[in-house]
Amino acid sequence: MFLEIKGIKKHYGEGESRVEVLNGIDIEVNKGEIVVLLGPSGSGKSTLLNIIGGIDDADEGYISIDGEKTADMNEKRLTQYRRKHLGYVFQMYNLIPNLTVRENIEVGAYLSDKALDTDEILNTLGLSDHADKKPNQLSGGQQQRTSIGRAIIKNPDILLCDEPTGALDYNTSKDILKLIEDVNKKYGNTIIIVTHNDAIKNMADRVITLRDGRIRKNYVNDNKIAAADLEW
Ligand code: ADP
Ligand code: MG
Repeated sequence: MFLEIKGIKKHYGEGESRVEVLNGIDIEVNKGEIVVLLGPSGSGKSTLLNIIGGIDDADEGYISIDGEKTADMNEKRLTQYRRKHLGYVFQMYNLIPNLTVRENIEVGAYLSDKALDTDEILNTLGLSDHADKKPNQLSGGQQQRTSIGRAIIKNPDILLCDEPTGALDYNTSKDILKLIEDVNKKYGNTIIIVTHNDAIKNMADRVITLRDGRIRKNYVNDNKIAAADLEW
């Protein structure tokens, strides 16, 4: 197993303002899987992604990638882990306004020793004709494609996507999810994605629902149709 999430507990605040966000989360993810995380607002989805991404610490439990626990990594190794093995895609694209599409994507290759070819990425993402534009000349969908390019140019082992279609209309969302699936097929990245868009039903290998800090359902999406029928 490639990514192990074991016994993760997390709270915020103290005393009366203490909230238990994650109450013992166990997930095992195989290499190349697309895992969809569903749950109501405030159920701890972003917190869990941040713990996997090493930008937040768990109170208890551990994250292990390829047999190495992130908690055992020193600061240098953790930085290396984030730079080389993780790609992050957010709801808001967070592009650098005065850089072109090409340059925004190349920012993601910084210090990577296995960067993919920028033109190939532009082509995969359907951005070749927009490479020299600035973010404010792009549609929301094109901006999100650019931010996906920035995340995947280092060919990360794990791509974490936190509501990547949350700011997009339904059809553009479908295109973006399809693109994430294409990226998975082409480069074999393990993908954990939070999204409520039902187009996900066609691409999820596994669906996990969170509620009250616990896993409510965790199932293999064999026929890739079940996600649409979920209640959470
Ligand atoms: P989701 O992504 O599922 O909407 P979050 O992981 O963002 O949920 O948040 C889970 C809970 O933790 C919420 O109640 C939120 O208010 C709280 N929370 C998240 N981050 C912090 C923080 N840095 N400090 C205090 N509370 C937080
Ligand atoms: Mg969130």
